[in-house]
Amino acid sequence: MDLASNLSAVEQRLAAACACAGRERSSVTLVAVSKGQPPELVQAAADLGLTLFGENKMQEARAKIPLCPGRLRWHMIGHLQTNKVRDAVHFFEMIHSVDSLALAEEVQKQAEKAAKRMPVLLEVNVAGEASKFGYAPARLLQELGQLNALPRLEIHGLMTMAPWSPDAERARPVFRRLRELKQECEQLLGAPLAHLSMGMSGDFEVAVEEGATLVRIGTALFGERRPAK
Ligand SMILES: *Cc1c(COP(=O)(O)O)cnc(C)c1O
Repeated sequence: MDLASNLSAVEQRLAAACACAGRERSSVTLVAVSKGQPPELVQAAADLGLTLFGENKMQEARAKIPLCPGRLRWHMIGHLQTNKVRDAVHFFEMIHSVDSLALAEEVQKQAEKAAKRMPVLLEVNVAGEASKFGYAPARLLQELGQLNALPRLEIHGLMTMAPWSPDAERARPVFRRLRELKQECEQLLGAPLAHLSMGMSGDFEVAVEEGATLVRIGTALFGERRPAK
């Protein structure tokens, strides 16, 4: 595993996808997904200039983040249980995975206790996969008003994971639907939403073509992960 050459390959793929879509490279932010990887590898990535990292488990993040350079920024990208929200509000700059009103209300409560505002994305299960978390699109549109009424929650956009497939094109309708849903949410809110978090190692070019602003990339940078504990 050569992190520097993996990073430059990812950067080339990102630049090509942006060029193909007629977008500025600066309109897409790379979230380096460090789950399953040790702090030494995060340090090595930071030395190469990466500053934004994603973790999907609170327990792992709580142990790892204090061992990493303090200037790094962290996003929570995995499913969050309500009893982990207090820590998530403390450790993360953004939570990508708000998928219920109950969770949003807990984020509200813990953010208030911490005297903070919490930037979040609403996770959508676009493909309706039983194995995945996330709002059903209709439910999201129903609950958006209640979510938006929580004063400590800053809704910055939507997040999704496409069903796994060896063919990245299969993800395109999912990403496109998330972009349309963002437009529907913007109409309901009467305000723009900045972010679409979509695209992983296997499908991020397609996600960029469909409007992703945050791509979450793990294995293409860091190689295979250690099995989750
Ligand atoms: C693991 C993970 C990723 C990164 O997946 P790779 O295929 O390793 O790039 C992105 N998003 C979420 C929510 C993840 O859990």
